[in-house]
Amino acid sequence: MNILFATAEAVPFAKTGGLGDVCGSLPRELAKLGHQPTLILPAFRQVFEAGIHIESTGITIEVPIGQKRVQGRILRSQLPNSEVPVYFVEQANYYDRPQLYGEDGEDYRDNCERFTFFSRAVFEAIVALDLEVEVLHCHDWCAGLIPAYLKTLYSERPPFDSIASLYTIHNLAYQGNFWHWDMALTGIDWKYFNWRQMEFYGNLSFMKTGISFADAVSTVSPTYASEIMRPPLSCGLEGALQHRQEDLFGILNGADYAHWNPATDSFLGKNIYDATSYETGKAACKVALQREVGLPVDPDKPLLAAVGRLADQKGFDLIARVMKQWAQQSDAQWVILGTGDPKYHQVLGQLAADHPEKIAVRLEFSNELAHQIEAGADMFLMPSQYEPCGLNQLYSLKYGTVPIVRATGGLADTVVDSTSETLAQGTATGFSFSEYTSLALSETLYRACSLFADKAAWQQLVKTGMQQDWSWNHSAQQYVELYEKTCSRAHQGVLS
Ligand code: ADP
Repeated sequence: MNILFATAEAVPFAKTGGLGDVCGSLPRELAKLGHQPTLILPAFRQVFEAGIHIESTGITIEVPIGQKRVQGRILRSQLPNSEVPVYFVEQANYYDRPQLYGEDGEDYRDNCERFTFFSRAVFEAIVALDLEVEVLHCHDWCAGLIPAYLKTLYSERPPFDSIASLYTIHNLAYQGNFWHWDMALTGIDWKYFNWRQMEFYGNLSFMKTGISFADAVSTVSPTYASEIMRPPLSCGLEGALQHRQEDLFGILNGADYAHWNPATDSFLGKNIYDATSYETGKAACKVALQREVGLPVDPDKPLLAAVGRLADQKGFDLIARVMKQWAQQSDAQWVILGTGDPKYHQVLGQLAADHPEKIAVRLEFSNELAHQIEAGADMFLMPSQYEPCGLNQLYSLKYGTVPIVRATGGLADTVVDSTSETLAQGTATGFSFSEYTSLALSETLYRACSLFADKAAWQQLVKTGMQQDWSWNHSAQQYVELYEKTCSRAHQGVLS
């Protein structure tokens, strides 16, 4: 099948989180299965800093934005280690900025215009490049207008009249909501600005638009697919989602073991390891990590880690509270890597300053350190308020770093809590808890640390996790089935 991914992020070109990982890996897996994926992204500044050859196609496009016509250029590259073509829409005024979506906790004020331009540019690029597309796979709010364009402005124009759209929600909380007058930028008729389609509490909502107009909708884990049907995780969109219930699917993300595998990870130097050599390999990675972040080198102290966007979603308020308490009464060490909300920069930075012998905090985005933490830590914390899928727990399992998670979304689908029963059966892979409280997290950490002291039981837990296969194999196959279903729905005219 010919699938065009319209996305703001794809590793290694642009990434702020899991969306980038997914759009960098899934197309490569689809190509391995014999399909023809292609990607199109905005040419953000990050894209040019990725160190990958990008060339001009010589094609210039022009897109109506409100009363203006805005020009862009189409550039071309490839997903590394594949033949998958990647196109970029270059428009320096919109995309040549320090960040993808905003700075210092504030969204860019013209995000509606930036991603309206991108959405329409996708259509112009399909024509200019003569791309064959059967399914337009649109990701998250940035691409939410695309299914609407397909069903409105472009619906009768070949080749668009035969293209189906799949809209994937990676995180429902980021909705792309803008004031209603921005509707004029889109060129879409005001009649669609109604409570069933594009309007959301008086605003224009890109997320709701994607959900309402796509031929099929998916999200990134089965549990999240059911959680978003009701408040609070529906984020106000329960009506729109319930309306599409028959067309909503949950497919778990996979881990890209080409990038995330302790047996081949170039960030680990000579300390690479697999399930058979993990004891020595991991011990060496732990020493290297303790040195790297300036913690006392000690093989016996449990080393607890978290890596992620410093957002409320990720449970850093619980982590901060528990770290503060534990720093006074336990010998556990902590390493935290993340950037995001200034309030967490402040709190976490202060904790590290107060307890430098136990807590190391790096407030930056570092892929290298993220890999070294996955390899060097004993336990990985994800006490998320909600987690559509989560990738770090999958990486942690592969690296023999026991995940400690709140049982929500994809975390509930992928981590088996250690109970006397699951430990005896050899099915336990981590620890999980339900209540979103620092007490529940703290109790779970006590459970984990007491098992950590029992070396044989800990080894069994680690090995069970390392032997699991959370690669894309299975999920890519599920996407192919969903693409087929999406096409047949489009041709039956599911939306009326
Ligand atoms: P989300 O998409 O909600 O941010 P995921 O767990 O799905 O969460 O994916 C997060 C991805 O981003 C992982 O690959 C993680 O390692 C990476 N990541 C997040 N913050 C950082 C950071 N500060 N430095 C390096 N990698 C990070």
